[in-house]
Amino acid sequence: MAQLYFRYGAMNSGKSIEILKVAHNYEEQNKSVLIFTSALDSRDEVGYVSSRIGIRAKAIPIHDDTHIYHIVENQTQNQKISCVLIDEVQFLNKDQIMQLTDIVDDLHIPVMGFGLKNDFQNELFEGSKYMLLYADKIEEMKTICWFCERKATMNLRIDEEGRPVYSGEQIQIGGNDSYYPVCRKCHKNPPL
Ligand SMILES: [Zn+2]
Repeated sequence: MAQLYFRYGAMNSGKSIEILKVAHNYEEQNKSVLIFTSALDSRDEVGYVSSRIGIRAKAIPIHDDTHIYHIVENQTQNQKISCVLIDEVQFLNKDQIMQLTDIVDDLHIPVMGFGLKNDFQNELFEGSKYMLLYADKIEEMKTICWFCERKATMNLRIDEEGRPVYSGEQIQIGGNDSYYPVCRKCHKNPPL
C-alpha cells in the first residue's frame, strides 16, 4: 500500500541529504522517482535539491499555482513512477498537500515530504500543518541545538547584526537573515 510520509526536522537535520539518498537507492534499482522542491527555496538555484555536503539533484520547482497531481499523473503516461519526493514541503499550500494525498490514494504512488515543522516564531507552516493532519507516517529527523547539547526542535532567526528575530513575515524572500537549529531554551534565550 502506498503511503504519505512526513519527515520533519529543524534546520540542518539532513533532510536534503536524505532525499538524495532515497532517490539514489531507487535509481540504483532502475526505478524512477520524481523529485520536487519549493520554488521559494532561495538557498540555491531554483529547481535543485542541494545538500550541505555538496551533492545536488535536479528537481521540479513548485510554485503557488503548481498542480503537483497533474504533473505526476502526466509522468505516469511515459514511465512507472516508484516514489515522489518533496523537499521544503512546509512551503506547499493546503490544496497541494491534498494533491499529495490523491497521488497516494488514486495513483498508488508513495509520497515522501520533507521539511520544517515550525517557523522562526514557532508556528506551524501551512504545508506542515496539513502534512501533520494527513500523513500516514510521521517521523522526526533529529539534530543537536546550535548552542548546547539538547535536541533542536525549533528554528532561530538571526539578523545581519547578530540579533534574534521573533516577528515579521513567515517567509522572507531575498533577505540575509540566518536560521539555526535550536532547543526550546536557546530559542527563548539564545546565548548570543
Ligand atoms: Zn540549546
